[in-house]
Amino acid sequence: MADGKLHAAVSVILAGSGQALQQIASVTSYQAMAFSLGALLGIILTPDLDLVGGSISQRQVRKSTGNIIGLIWAMLWYPYAKLLGHRSFWSHTPIIGTIIRIIYVFGLPLLLWSMLWQAGHVSVPPPIPVLGQLDPLLFWVLLGLSVSDLFHWLMDL
Ligand SMILES: [Zn+2]
Repeated sequence: MADGKLHAAVSVILAGSGQALQQIASVTSYQAMAFSLGALLGIILTPDLDLVGGSISQRQVRKSTGNIIGLIWAMLWYPYAKLLGHRSFWSHTPIIGTIIRIIYVFGLPLLLWSMLWQAGHVSVPPPIPVLGQLDPLLFWVLLGLSVSDLFHWLMDL
């Protein structure tokens, strides 16, 4: 089984392959960059966020942003890790694990923001995304993230 550094290295290589994708498929440079961004996002939104003791994601966020944001990031993922457990079906299965992490990291804060806004504790309404109004490049970001997660899953077998 691979460790976090090897998973991260594969995500970086995958990000680099986004440019090759442009050469072999009819993909625009923006789509290729969005794919690469998604693959790199696989380092931060790794399936290994289900590790209670911390993952490479938590170390990278703490190293890049400092202890306070690193602590917030670790606290955000603690319930996820406790609930799912390491290498569970819900965290590591391709597509399913990716969707759950996206909902967890974006959906829960939006839900909390929405509740605070409706209760009058926050004056700015939450930016609720509307499916038809999402940027089409988001598909390529999600594809890059999904492929990164697929390689993660294969390397964990
Ligand atoms: Zn893993």
